[in-house]
Amino acid sequence: MPKLSSRVEHFTESVIRSMTKIADHYGAINLSQGFPDFDPPKLLLDELKTVCDKELHQYEITYGAEKFREALAAKQQKFMDLPINPEENIVVTCGSTEAMMAVMMAVCDPGEKVIIFSPFYENYSADTILSGCEPIFVPLIPPTFHFDKGVLRQAFKQNPKAIVICNPSNPTGKVFTKEELAYIATLCIEFDVFAIMDEVYEHIVFKGHKHTYMASLPDMFERTISCSSLSKTYSITGWRLGYVIAHPTIIEAVRKTHDFLTVGAPSPLQHAAIAGLKLGQQYYDELTDTYTRKKEIFLNGLTDLGFTFYEPQGTYFTLVDVSQFNVVNDFDFCKWLIKEVGVGAVPGSSFFREPIHQYIRLHFAKKEGTLLEALGRLKSIKTKKYMKNN
Ligand code: GLN
Repeated sequence: MPKLSSRVEHFTESVIRSMTKIADHYGAINLSQGFPDFDPPKLLLDELKTVCDKELHQYEITYGAEKFREALAAKQQKFMDLPINPEENIVVTCGSTEAMMAVMMAVCDPGEKVIIFSPFYENYSADTILSGCEPIFVPLIPPTFHFDKGVLRQAFKQNPKAIVICNPSNPTGKVFTKEELAYIATLCIEFDVFAIMDEVYEHIVFKGHKHTYMASLPDMFERTISCSSLSKTYSITGWRLGYVIAHPTIIEAVRKTHDFLTVGAPSPLQHAAIAGLKLGQQYYDELTDTYTRKKEIFLNGLTDLGFTFYEPQGTYFTLVDVSQFNVVNDFDFCKWLIKEVGVGAVPGSSFFREPIHQYIRLHFAKKEGTLLEALGRLKSIKTKKYMKNN
């Protein structure tokens, strides 16, 4: 057999998604890959049934169905406080995953550098490698996950083309403050760098914190590429509906990479999801309330069990410190947790560039009953006694 591309030698299959496979295999409660075990709003399911009979089963406009883009523009315009033209500023993609890849290929040439904060959502390093780029990692320093301004500035001095920012941030749950984003924005402007934003958790932000859209900061619209999706906001991770919002010149380039990667996002699902995009403010308030309740149940439970963790400011993830179990290999620990305790988690090291093995990532996008069951299982963690190489 001829040799495979060297590109694929430099990253592994997704650790997040492989933990799901292992958890499913052992029948564990899967708190690894972040997705809900509850239904999307009924309105969306009803729409989906209606759409099935409407002859919407063929290709849509490659960059998104017109009505979907119109509804999305109206919604995002309100939240981002920016004028968004559905014809010029939007590409609809297959999830934010495709959005990020299409963007990376549209703005970066092979050999160029991209700044990535560490810990980071694992797709970003794969996206960088697949685009032929070189990552420059800048630490978000535990336990508060702040960045050192001097270190970030040094990274910008290495002639990067773009910086990737997940805000609210997976896996930490950090919500970047307006001041932090404004500092990054000044560097982007000074060094002429794109800000590629992954904002899929934009509507899961807890009290006391506020999501700031980088694109809305002064002079940032022409260098910010806002990627997001409907997956988390409407609990439809399997529908694979994402999008890119940016300046028309950037959008023109992203339309090309997107077209040749996937042609388009599924037509009937775009049409059914329009009902979600048209929901009013009450829906987003209720979403916050729902996730606040889940966070409280889960984190209070973890505290009662003696765990320490970073309290998320947004998202539905928490990085739990497992150093009390003398974990040397967190992947091994997570496999043990699945087999012996019955709970799936993601080894924290898969998010860090640095050799940090003391965290596991758990998520709480689950029914309250599922969370209580998971907590019940986690109770046994101390009596079961973790031993290496289980
Ligand atoms: N963003 C979610 C996570 O980090 C799911 C990612 C995915 O598998 N597409 O778990």
